[in-house]
Amino acid sequence: MSLTSIDTSLRSVVDTFGRPLGSLRLSVTDRCNLRCKYCMPEPEYVWLPREDILSFEEMATLAGYFADLGVEKVRLTGGEPLLRRDLARLVRLLRQDRRITEVALTTNGVLLADYAQELYEAGLDRVTVSLDTLRPERFRQLTGRDEFSRVLEGIESVGKTGFGHLKLDTVAIRGFNDDELAPLVEFAKHYQAEVRFIEYMDVGGANEWSLEKVLSQDMILDLLGQRYGQIIPVPERGTAPAQRFRLPDGTIFGIIPSTTVPFCASCDRSRVTADGLWYLCLYATSGVDLRKPLRLGTGSDAMRDMIRSVWGGRRDRGAEDRKALEQIGLRSGGLIDIDRLRQDPHLEMHARGG
Ligand code: SAM
Ligand code: SF4
Ligand code: SF4
Repeated sequence: MSLTSIDTSLRSVVDTFGRPLGSLRLSVTDRCNLRCKYCMPEPEYVWLPREDILSFEEMATLAGYFADLGVEKVRLTGGEPLLRRDLARLVRLLRQDRRITEVALTTNGVLLADYAQELYEAGLDRVTVSLDTLRPERFRQLTGRDEFSRVLEGIESVGKTGFGHLKLDTVAIRGFNDDELAPLVEFAKHYQAEVRFIEYMDVGGANEWSLEKVLSQDMILDLLGQRYGQIIPVPERGTAPAQRFRLPDGTIFGIIPSTTVPFCASCDRSRVTADGLWYLCLYATSGVDLRKPLRLGTGSDAMRDMIRSVWGGRRDRGAEDRKALEQIGLRSGGLIDIDRLRQDPHLEMHARGG
C-alpha cells in the first residue's frame, strides 16, 4: 500500500489510555559537545556503535511509518543534534513528507550560528535552544565547557534568519539558577523568545538528581510572582508539555512540571534513538528495536503493523510512577545504577533525546 493511499482513519492509533501517536523525537546522535551535570556528568561514556547509527534515509523512512500512523510533528534532538554532519539534509528529507507538518530542533546552541541559515532554508520550522544560565562562569561550571558566547551567537543567529518563534528551555535547579528566573524571562523578551522552565528530572541514572534540587512549578511561580506581580495561566495546554503563563505586562513563559505535576495523561510523544530503538516513554527502561527489521528489509505494511500494535499496548506513565514512588518515600536518587548504564547507553537522557 502506498503511503498516500492510507485512509486517514487508519492513521490514528491510540494507546491503552486513549493517547494518540502524535509527536516523534528523533535523536540523531548520542554524542555531545557539552557535559551538563544533570545529563552527562560522568567522565567517560559508552557510545552507541557507529555501524548501528541510522542513516538519514533510514530515519526518514521510519518517520514516514510514524506519519502513516498519525505523527505530524518531528523534533530532532540528541545528544547534540548539530554534531551530526549535514543535518539540513535530514530536514529536507523529512520535509518531503507532507503529513509531517512541523520539523523542530532542540539544540544546546553551541554550533547554531554555523547552521541556522541552512537549516532554515532546508525547511526547519522551529528552534529550541537550551539555556540554563546567563552567567558565563556558571555556564562553564554546569556544562564543563567555555561555550557561553557561542550559545549567545547561536541565539542571535536565529533572529537573523526567518525562523518564527524561538523557545529557550531552562532546567530550573534549586540552589543553582533559581536566582536567574527573572533575568531569563527578560533575556527571552529581548530576543522575542519564550522561555520554558523545566523541572529537574531523574531520567537515566547519571544525572546528579535529588528531590531537594527540584525547583517546582509552585516555587517558580512564587519567585516570579514576587518579582512581577500576578501571574495568570494561559488556557489550552492540549498535549503540549508546557503550561504557559502570562505576566502582568503580557509576557508569556512556560513551565514543564514533569516532576511535580506529571502530564502523562495527555502524552502523545515517543522517541527513537540514533540507532533505531523506539522508546514509548522518557522513563522506559527498554525500547523496541526498529533498526533490525528495517535493515532486514521488512515491508512497510509489516513495519506499520508492528508500530501500531506496540503503541496500542502502551501503558507507560513514567513520571507519574516516579511521583507515586516519591509519595511512599522511595524516590531517592537516579532511576538506574551507574553499572547498568555502562552496559546500556540507551538508558541515559543524552541517548533518548530529552
Ligand atoms: N543537546 C540538546 C540540548 O541540550 O538542547 C538536545 C538534547 S537534551 C537531552 C534535550 C533537553 O533535555 C535539554 O533541554 C536538556 O536541558 C534537557 N534535560 C537533560 N537532562 C535533564 C534532566 N535531568 N532534567 C530535565 N531536563 C533535562
Ligand atoms: Fe547538555 Fe543536551 Fe548535551 Fe545533555 S545532550 S549534556 S542536555 S547539551
Ligand atoms: Fe510521556 Fe513518559 Fe514523560 Fe509521562 S513520563 S509525559 S508518559 S514521556
